[in-house]
This record gives sequence, C-alpha cells and structure tokens, in this order.
Amino acid sequence: MPKTMPAPLRPCKNDNFDQKAFRGALLKWYDRHARVLPWRYTPGNKANPYHVWLSEVMLQQTTVQAVIPYFGKFVDKWSTVQKLAAAKDEDVMHAWAGLGYYARARNLLKCARAVSTEHLGIFPESIDSLKTLPGIGDYTAAAIASIAFDIPATVIDGNVDRVVSRYFAIQDPLPDSKPEIREQAKRLFEGTVKRPGDFAQAMMDLGATICTPKSPKCGVCPIAEHCQARLRGIATELPHRREKAVQPKRVGYVYWVTNSKGEVLFETRPPTGLLGGMTGLPTSDWVAPGAINHISAMKIEDTAVMNKNLKIRHTFTHFDLELTGVKLPAPRGFRLSPNQFWVAPADIPALGFPTVFRKFVRLVLD
Ligand code: SF4
Repeated sequence: MPKTMPAPLRPCKNDNFDQKAFRGALLKWYDRHARVLPWRYTPGNKANPYHVWLSEVMLQQTTVQAVIPYFGKFVDKWSTVQKLAAAKDEDVMHAWAGLGYYARARNLLKCARAVSTEHLGIFPESIDSLKTLPGIGDYTAAAIASIAFDIPATVIDGNVDRVVSRYFAIQDPLPDSKPEIREQAKRLFEGTVKRPGDFAQAMMDLGATICTPKSPKCGVCPIAEHCQARLRGIATELPHRREKAVQPKRVGYVYWVTNSKGEVLFETRPPTGLLGGMTGLPTSDWVAPGAINHISAMKIEDTAVMNKNLKIRHTFTHFDLELTGVKLPAPRGFRLSPNQFWVAPADIPALGFPTVFRKFVRLVLD
C-alpha cells in the first residue's frame, strides 16, 4: 500500500472558514444541546449579571462540578450583589473554603462592594468598565459582557482554546500559541453577530462535551466539516503543550494542639498571602526541604511527640507541599494570640477551612 503523505503542518488559516455558516451550525446545535447549569438561562434569554459574574469567578481554574454546590450555597445565602457586599468577610471566606485559590474570594467581596457603592448595585456593561473592578481580568470581563449583556466579545477559556486550536490546526504548543489562538478566535467571535452570549456559551459547551481533551466526538460535531485537525487526523494530538517544569517542593509542620478540655487550636490566617484570611490549623513556615530543623512554631523541645505517619501532601499552583503532623497538648503557659481560638472536635466539621487543612483534620479524626 502506498504510504500516505503526512498532512502539511501549515498553513492553519482554514481557508474554508465561513463565519456565518460556522456560527449558524454551532448555535443550532446549542439550542438543542446546551448544558443545564444553575447560573444559565435557556438559549435566547438574558442571564442575571450577578449570577454570571459569580459563576465566572468561581470557574476560574475550577471545574463546573466543583463549582455547582458553591454557587448554590452563595446565591441561597446572598441572593443579590448588595447582600453579598454587606456580608461579613469571615462568613464569605468560610463559605468559599474548599474551593481553592482564595485570593478570588477576597476579590469577590471587594468587587461586590465596588459594584454596590460605586455602581448602585448594577454591574457596568462595557468590557473596559468591568475590567476596573477587583478580580475581573480580560477573560472574565469578556465573558460577563457577552453572556450577561449580549455584547460581542472574544471569550477564550480552556475549552475554547482547544476547539480553536483544533479547528484551525494550530501547531505551536500552549501557552506560546495563545496569541495565534486569540487571532483565529476573533474570526469566530467578532463582527456584527447575532446572540453573542449564546455563541460564547456554545463554544464552551462544545469544548466541554464534544471536543473533549482525550476523545473528541468528531462524528457528532456540528463544525466537523471544515475542522482542520479532523481533516488531518490530528484531533487528539492538539493542542500541544509545552512540558511543565517540575514544581518546587516545600515542607513544614502542621499542629494539632489540644487543651485540657480536648478542644483543638485553630487560627485565622493573616489577611494577605497564601490562604489569606482563611481559618486553619497552626503551622510552621513552609520551606525548601532541608531548611527546617526543628518544630519551631510551637516552641516544642521534644521532637519525639512528632508522629511521622501523619503526613499530608497538597499541590498549590506554584509548589508541592508536604506537611508532617504533630499532635501535642498545649505547651505549659500557652496563651491564645488574638487570631487563635479553641474548637470542640464535634464542631470542627462545620468550620469552613481550606483543603490542605481538611486533609489533615480527616487524617486525625478518622
Ligand atoms: S471536528 Fe473534532 S476536533 Fe474538530 S472541533 Fe469538532 S470535535 Fe473538535
């Protein structure tokens, strides 16, 4: 059998591209297959800007499945942006606990308060005005403008990255290919177009349900006809990604300190920095392996109290953390700092705190 010629790597312009036909096919598909999500309105209807903003902030680097219960909890507790703006910081941080990337929660509150005081509780509609609000960058502003206000905007999340990379067969690895993806995506999103909000959500849904990372369902894809990756047989290979650098590692100690009543010591972390403002257990500093030589934070002299089996690992964006647990009674003369408090074991499950501490609490209580 003659060997088939390999598909040319370039050009990726997709000269058969016809914006009107592409958009028409995708919207028709969306009208029948849109995902039902708690912050969504049915195709053709306008969404609530508060719901769109809240969901988009929660969805940053977080999956839809993880966000759904948190979104429900937030809108049950705070049904409008004004009510959220009036909430206590600690209540919002507790409600956010476990969702990760805690700077988002702090910015969420700042943004709610800015909308409430500077914009009379109404989200501004232009992308430029939205971007002046805390925690709203290029992507989130484009998503809110498009989904909540039907303003044409190029909305590129991870799903759209993948669909565009494949449709135009973009070969450079991510993230280097971002500028090219943006250029090509503009051909899909911009111009005098109908239903910009539905189109943006249709692109996201296509990436989430049809053009999936490992097994794209090209056979049922509404834009398959001119998809360059499908035509070249390279759909599963794209998008390429630059190899990730190995994450640095940090180590430290986490303390389970109990008083004479059996209560456990918790603290509110400093308002800024990693896990800022969240409830947690006391810890030592988190340092490079080898840089820590004693369990200094609690001034413990006897390292024999350390239980080496109590280890947890957690991955943050920029480093991997390994914490060794230390169970001990409060040292003689111990006094609470203003940010510390005792919690009865039965009340611990109701406390909201980040996953890294939840892992340790489970290890101890289970
Ligand atoms: S044809 Fe296949 S690779 Fe192309 S966009 Fe559709 S699902 Fe993705």
